[in-house]
Amino acid sequence: MNICYVCKKSFVPKTELSEGNISLEHIIPNSLGGSLKSKELLCKSCNSMFGETCDAHLSKQFSHIASLLMIERDRGEIQPIKGGKNEDGDYTIHSGYKPAIAHPIFNKKEIEPGKTKIEITARDLTEMKKILSGLARKNPGFNAEEAMKRVQISKEYLAKPIQLNFGIGDSQAFKAITKIAANYYVHTQNECEQISKVIEYLKTDVDAEITFHYNPNEKLYPLEDNEVCHLLHLVGDNINKILYCYIDLFSSFSFLVLLSDNYTGQSFSNTYAYDILKRKEVSKPIFLNFSKKQIHSILSKNEILNDNESVTNKLNRLATIIHKLHNDVVIGKLSQIAADKTLKRHPEGTPISKEMLNEYLAEVAESYASFLLRESKIKK
Ligand SMILES: [Zn+2]
Repeated sequence: MNICYVCKKSFVPKTELSEGNISLEHIIPNSLGGSLKSKELLCKSCNSMFGETCDAHLSKQFSHIASLLMIERDRGEIQPIKGGKNEDGDYTIHSGYKPAIAHPIFNKKEIEPGKTKIEITARDLTEMKKILSGLARKNPGFNAEEAMKRVQISKEYLAKPIQLNFGIGDSQAFKAITKIAANYYVHTQNECEQISKVIEYLKTDVDAEITFHYNPNEKLYPLEDNEVCHLLHLVGDNINKILYCYIDLFSSFSFLVLLSDNYTGQSFSNTYAYDILKRKEVSKPIFLNFSKKQIHSILSKNEILNDNESVTNKLNRLATIIHKLHNDVVIGKLSQIAADKTLKRHPEGTPISKEMLNEYLAEVAESYASFLLRESKIKK
């Protein structure tokens, strides 16, 4: 289309005199790994309005999942995951599954009257230096440089798993999900009259009962092992006069969006599925055929997600995939470190001998065993 489907302003291309108002809209937000995009959906100001409000909210709710799956954006890096906890304290998980303590830890112990021992754990040397200089300023008898010499650097595996809490779905998130469906409708059908009520809802702060969680017990389409997809299935039904979109995010979070219950257009269905780990479009056979009564009954039930077997199964599957990805990353890193260590022991350019290969294998075996046992040193 040549107009923004939300504010109906015509698209004006960039010229020497003006910036124009054309902007690239991701049909599924790029922060979630979405790659389908169009310059014929939203004008620059509508795009940035949604980007700063409901899209930002949805991205935040899915940020843990996107980080754990190492989703790369067109712009910007993988965000660290904050808010991890176990019995030992708070953690932040950095890109490449590197957990680090969320803040420095201080352990104070009075060893004798007037004498206190402080154990400090910092995240890096710069932070430690800063803390020690601070202590020296407050305690003139304390020598920060001497203390710095006693600093020990250690890397270790976590003794206990970290727990992360997150919640998906509220009015802002549902608005962003509704926009995904509206984007996809306008993108594929090249018209916006049939969804005028939805567009009004997108423009205002008023809640509307358009988008719901939808997790039926039966599988709607097959997935390969370790496959994580975003899927959009749009159905226009001229007989039942309904237009709706089923949305799966990360093959785990499923929604139904009723775009119109007074649909007068042609009957059609369109499916888009994107494997977010392999970063390619895939084909998924999915067939939904609701009557108006059925769809209203689904929407009026307002599905409760706790104790929902289908939701539990999907989340367990996703957790297993994330765990496997994590192991693959760590094993890749361990082999690289073992190769670097082996090569360092020999002059540069030495041809790889059988002995070097054996050294390398011994390094890999040792580091892999310590990873499996989650211990930083193997007891010999
Ligand atoms: Zn606009």
